Amino acid sequence: MDMTTIEAVVRTADPADWQPGDAWLAGGTVLFSYGSFAFGREPLRRLLDLSATGWPAITVSESGIDLAATCTIAELYALPAGGSVDTADWPALQLVRPCCDSFVASFKIWNMSTVGGNLCTSLPAGPMISLCAALDGVATLLGPGGASRTVPVAEFVTGDARNALAPGELLRSVHLPASALASRVAFRRLSLSNLGRSGALLIGRLDADGGLVLTVTAATKRPVQVRLPGTGGTAGAGMPTAAQLAAALDAALPDGLYHDDIHGLPAWRKDMTYRLAEEIRAELAAPAGTAPARVSGDFWPPADVPQASPQQASPQQEGA
Ligand SMILES: Cc1cc2nc3c(=O)[nH]c(=O)nc-3n(C[C@H](O)[C@H](O)[C@H](O)COP(=O)(O)OP(=O)(O)OC[C@H]3O[C@@H](n4cnc5c(N)ncnc54)[C@H](O)[C@@H]3O)c2cc1C
Repeated sequence: MDMTTIEAVVRTADPADWQPGDAWLAGGTVLFSYGSFAFGREPLRRLLDLSATGWPAITVSESGIDLAATCTIAELYALPAGGSVDTADWPALQLVRPCCDSFVASFKIWNMSTVGGNLCTSLPAGPMISLCAALDGVATLLGPGGASRTVPVAEFVTGDARNALAPGELLRSVHLPASALASRVAFRRLSLSNLGRSGALLIGRLDADGGLVLTVTAATKRPVQVRLPGTGGTAGAGMPTAAQLAAALDAALPDGLYHDDIHGLPAWRKDMTYRLAEEIRAELAAPAGTAPARVSGDFWPPADVPQASPQQASPQQEGA
């Protein structure tokens, strides 16, 4: 859509250039579809265009993976097959493609939309939020005068379309630590309609010490993490029981935190959260390689089933 209030587009990634009425422009898939009055804020006057930053989309090192805020969904989707990472060392990379697929996106979204734009839009169904929060991602935020601070992604999103950014702050990158990438993972996503927007998206991580980290997104207004420490023995041996997991969810998730919109009523989202959490617990409690007893939802096929990108699977999924 035309943004009729825009007076200038400025190519810059310097927070010192930001003024009230400005918005950082990444892929533009939110800005150009919601328009100048996005999310009820004041009308926008300038767009600060991040397209010429030259930031490397993905940087792999011993300490983990750094995703530039400007990394597109298509670039991220290519990562597990790109040869720059050893998927045997970092099994949690299995999450990358199902999270990208959770956009059920059109060609435009796939190729233009960015990791940073998704985090900063801060919708409950933001699949890059799910991925980065579940992997203990840490966001680097830049402010004027060279200021910089870090925030865990799980705390960066504070509510529906709300986040920790101060006015004018710029999300520069997200670091995914090697320790989380080395974990076994399980993924579940549900939507009310076939290939619709996520109504519940849960990711479980079994860490080396046997601890379970469960990240609930889409069902809730903001990410919620439940951490159940392991016994320090064999991974999976110290798993909580179903009752312990349910009690931990009870404690972490007051009813008011479940999201309510056209993509799912809070009561349904709550039911699905408990159901998917238990499926994840059971999958990670079983020895690695065991076929899960039950897989609700989509996008978590067995490892030997090749996954197609949305463009290969279906021409358009507009209107998700
Ligand atoms: C058909 C369709 C389906 C969609 N499905 C989903 C979905 O399932 N889940 C979902 O979450 N969204 C969905 N969206 C919304 C949107 O496409 C995504 O959230 C997308 O990831 C936004 O990224 P972008 O780079 O295009 O952001 P932009 O439109 O460029 O920016 C979005 C917001 O983030 C700010 N911003 C961008 N980058 C930065 C930065 N580095 N630092 C600070 N602020 C920044 C902008 O100023 C703006 O306020 C969908 C949209 C469409 C049209």
